[in-house]
Amino acid sequence: MPTAEIITIGTELMLGDILDTNAPYIARKLREAGVDVQRTWSIGDFTDEIANAIREATQRADIILTTGGLGPTVDDPTREAVARAFGVPTEYREELWQQVVDRFVFFDRYPTENNRKQAYVPRGAVAIENPVGTAPAFLMEFGRAEGGKGVVIALPGVPREMEHLLENEVLPDLHHRFALDRVTVVRVLHTAGVGESQIDEKVGDLEAMKNPIVGLAAHAGQVDVRIAATAQSETQARQLIAPVEAEVRERLGNWIYGADHETLEDIALHLLKSKDWHLTAVEGGLEGKLLRRFATQNGVFLSGEVHPSPFTSLETLHQATSFYRQTRQAEVGLGVSLQAGQEKRDIFLVLITPVGEKTLRVPFGGPPQLAARRAVNLGIDLLRKIDR
Ligand code: ATP
Repeated sequence: MPTAEIITIGTELMLGDILDTNAPYIARKLREAGVDVQRTWSIGDFTDEIANAIREATQRADIILTTGGLGPTVDDPTREAVARAFGVPTEYREELWQQVVDRFVFFDRYPTENNRKQAYVPRGAVAIENPVGTAPAFLMEFGRAEGGKGVVIALPGVPREMEHLLENEVLPDLHHRFALDRVTVVRVLHTAGVGESQIDEKVGDLEAMKNPIVGLAAHAGQVDVRIAATAQSETQARQLIAPVEAEVRERLGNWIYGADHETLEDIALHLLKSKDWHLTAVEGGLEGKLLRRFATQNGVFLSGEVHPSPFTSLETLHQATSFYRQTRQAEVGLGVSLQAGQEKRDIFLVLITPVGEKTLRVPFGGPPQLAARRAVNLGIDLLRKIDR
């Protein structure tokens, strides 16, 4: 399996001004294509640092992918850095300049002299036309010490441009170049209403497997179990996943609410729809986070009320939920609130249906900024378990 390193470039990434979404995106795509990503780095706009990193990476990896630093300004250092890493100059390519001019004309603009910089690539590089932005990307082959060829590929930083070139140019090239014949399939099982450590207790032994790999990812109030298998075809990878998924489902039972793209609210509202029940909701101190989760689910969700501040008690939340349910003539009323005025907040939950009522007070000991999200997930999970 070929190995890869990803280098995301940009001083903004160092300053915490933008979140690096390019590295995880590329890592996922490479993994799915059967490439073993071994390291991701972020470096500011410093030509020498980037050149050193690339040189180092060529000692270890077959594929080095960079993003960013291809713009027209002096602090866009990637072209120069790749050239330095290989001890070659950059060279002007008239056809690249023509591409830059054409893109500007397409956008009804004119390039400045600065943009001419984008028509330079390291000597020996192969340019990759960028139909969604102005900066051409490029790739550069290098000989690996242990034989065979590696490749450095420099992509733009703008995610939309990077994604387009990765899908349409880079991945097909890598498939061909490295005869990639393995695919990785990932199945994600979502659980709610249970902590990561409880899940870990139940499926921890499966996490020692090599293929498929089983791993956990915790979000506030939800834990995902990821099962990733690598094989020569998607069918084979799915065959490897199937028995492990069955085992995980057997062990975690009803904690699992869905898989892959299914959301907790999809499942919960689908259940209400099957009963021909309608929903209203009252939330306290959650900044609209609960109602937003129901916003696109037409038909079942009638309306809701956002209380800017948390409720002071479970009783007042119950009163508000009950009142709102009656006035809206909904079968189901859901109330979710943080507890007012407390450092360590409890979460208040109220569920009123035609067949009964539940009121719950759940302690929340985690970081305060996660409290709202956890409350929302607990509330929607209560709806999912409406029959129990
Ligand atoms: P351009 O020619 O458009 O300037 P570029 O290759 O020079 O492209 P950068 O200037 O490094 O790209 O980044 C452009 C923008 O793309 C950044 O301002 C940022 O919004 C976004 N971006 C860059 N790198 C990343 C990253 N790793 N993750 C997410 N967004 C990024």
